[in-house]
Amino acid sequence: MMPMKLGQFHGGLRLPGCKADSMLSPVTAAPIPPRLYVPLKQHIGAAAEPVIRIGDHVLKGQLLADSDSHVTAPVHAPTSGTVVEIVEHTVPHPSGMTAPCIVIETDGKDEWRPNLSAHSQYHLLSPNELRQIIRDAGIVGLGGAGFPAFLKLNPGQDKLVETLILNGAECEPYITCDAMLMQERARDILDGLHIMRHAVQARHCIIGIEDHNSAAIAAMQAALSKEEQKHISIIAIPTRYPTGGEKQLIKVLTNKEVPSHKLPIDIGVVCHNVGTAFAVADAVLRGIPLISRYVTITGGAIKTPQNLITQFGTPMAFLLDHCGLQRDKLSRLLMGGPMMGLQISDLQTPVIKTSNCLLALGPGEAGDTHPEMPCIRCGECARVCPAQLLPQQLYWWSRARDFDKVQDYNLFDCIECGCCAWVCPSHIPLVQYYRFAKTEIWQQERDKRKSDHARDRHEFRQLRMERKKREDEERKRKKKELLQRANAGKDETKKSAIDEALARVQAKKAQQQTESRNTDNLTPAQQKQIEAADARRANQTPADTTGDEGSEA
Ligand code: SF4
Ligand code: SF4
Repeated sequence: MMPMKLGQFHGGLRLPGCKADSMLSPVTAAPIPPRLYVPLKQHIGAAAEPVIRIGDHVLKGQLLADSDSHVTAPVHAPTSGTVVEIVEHTVPHPSGMTAPCIVIETDGKDEWRPNLSAHSQYHLLSPNELRQIIRDAGIVGLGGAGFPAFLKLNPGQDKLVETLILNGAECEPYITCDAMLMQERARDILDGLHIMRHAVQARHCIIGIEDHNSAAIAAMQAALSKEEQKHISIIAIPTRYPTGGEKQLIKVLTNKEVPSHKLPIDIGVVCHNVGTAFAVADAVLRGIPLISRYVTITGGAIKTPQNLITQFGTPMAFLLDHCGLQRDKLSRLLMGGPMMGLQISDLQTPVIKTSNCLLALGPGEAGDTHPEMPCIRCGECARVCPAQLLPQQLYWWSRARDFDKVQDYNLFDCIECGCCAWVCPSHIPLVQYYRFAKTEIWQQERDKRKSDHARDRHEFRQLRMERKKREDEERKRKKKELLQRANAGKDETKKSAIDEALARVQAKKAQQQTESRNTDNLTPAQQKQIEAADARRANQTPADTTGDEGSEA
C-alpha cells in the first residue's frame, strides 16, 4: 500500500458497524424463485421497453427490454423461463408505487443464451467500443444511485481523467456485500478496474476501503501484482460515516473538493463502486450482462444473516424467508442501510440492480419513535453535516415551501446521509423535509418544462400562420398583376386591328377616287361595266362592301 496523506471531510459520525453477523459464511447463490418480477426501470433514466412478448420462452442473459433514450439501461433475463405477464407491480420507491414489470415463470434449468461475446483482448478495443459493451450489458452504478455506468465512463473529449477511484468504503451499518465481494472476487474487481481505466484513459487508480475492513484490504492487496502497484493504490481510510459518499471519498483520497453544482469529472476524477467494476469485468471478459448481484440480508428479524448472489426480480419475501425471516419480529424492512435506506412496505417488492441490502430490523433496532419537537436552534445538525450545509435553514425553508430560498441554501448538495436527523435533539425527520422539497422542485421544473413546451408550440403555430397569410397575400398580388398585364395586351391587339381595318377602308376609298378620275380613257363597254358595278355597290350594305373589300384584299 502506498503511503499517502489523507484528506478529511467536514462533520460525519462514528456509527456502530453491526456487520459481523452477515460475514460469517461465504457468499452463495440464492435459490431461483418460481416467478421473477423484473422491473423495466431499475436505474436513473428512462424506462426500457419490452422487446419480448407474453408467451416467449427466454434464456438467461437474453435481452428483455431496451430503449433509444440516451440515459437508460437495458434489462436482461436473470434466468430461463417463460414470460407470462407484463404487469404493474410494487417496485422499490419511497412512495411504494407500482411500475411495469416483466413476469417470468422460471423453468429451473437456468439455461444461458448461446454465443455470449467475450472480449479478453479488451485493450484492443476503443473506449467507445468498451462503453457500448458496458451499456449493452445494462450496467448501472451498484453503489446505490443506479446511474448508467457507460455515461459515467465517458468524461467527454475536453476532460482529462487524472484519477479513477474505486469506492470500497461501505460506510453504512449492516451492509457487507461490497466487503464480501472484495474478499472473494478481488481479481475480478481489479480486471474491471483495468477495463474502466482504459475506457476513461485515467492516469492512475485508487481503491478506497474503510480501515475496519481488514479482510477486504488484505484480499485486494494479495490480488494486486507488482506491475499493477505502479498505477493502482489500495488505501485504507478512516471509518467514519459517510466516507462512502462520492464527494467525501474524493476529499479523503485526493484532498480535493468537488465544488457545489459540479461533478467529480470537473476536477479530473471519476468514481465507481467496486461492485460496478466486478460487473464490468463480467460483461467485457465473459459477455455476461448485469442480471444478479451480491445482496446482504440481515437485521434482528433474520435468523441467518448472510450475503447471497441474487437474481434481479426475486421477490424480497422469497429471499428473506430463505434466510429465516421471523415475521413476528419484523418491525421495519429497509432496502439499504439504516441511515439512507428505503422503507419497503410490500414484501413482494423485487430485488433490483440497486438493492445492496435487505435490512429486516427487529424489535428495538428500528429506534424509538419520538414525537417531533420544535427546533431549538442548537446547531448540532450543521456540526455533523458532511456537505457543510445549514440543515436547520434547509428545514425552515422546506417546511415553509419556499423552494427558491431552500435552493439558495444548496439543497441539492444534500446527499441525504441523515447525519443531521441522527443528532437532532428535537427528533425532527429532517431528511424527509429535504426529500419533500426536492420532489416538489423537480415537479415544478417538470411542469415548467411542459408549459414552456406548450408555449413554444403555440408561438410556432402563430408564426406559421402569419407566414402563410403573408405568402397567400403575395400570391394573390402576383396573380392580379399578371391578369392586369394580360388584359392590357388584349386591348392593345384589339385597337391595332381596328386601326388596320380603318386604314384599309381609307386606302380603298382613295383607290376608287383615283379610278373614277381615269374613266375618260375607258371604252364605252368598260364604262358600262363600271357603272353597273357602282350601281351594285350602291345597293349593297356597308358591311357587305367591307366584306367584299376584305375578300379582295
Ligand atoms: S439539530 Fe435539530 S434542533 Fe438543533 S438546530 Fe438542527 S434542526 Fe434545530
Ligand atoms: S442529510 Fe443533508 S443536510 Fe443532513 S447532514 Fe446529510 S447532507 Fe447535511
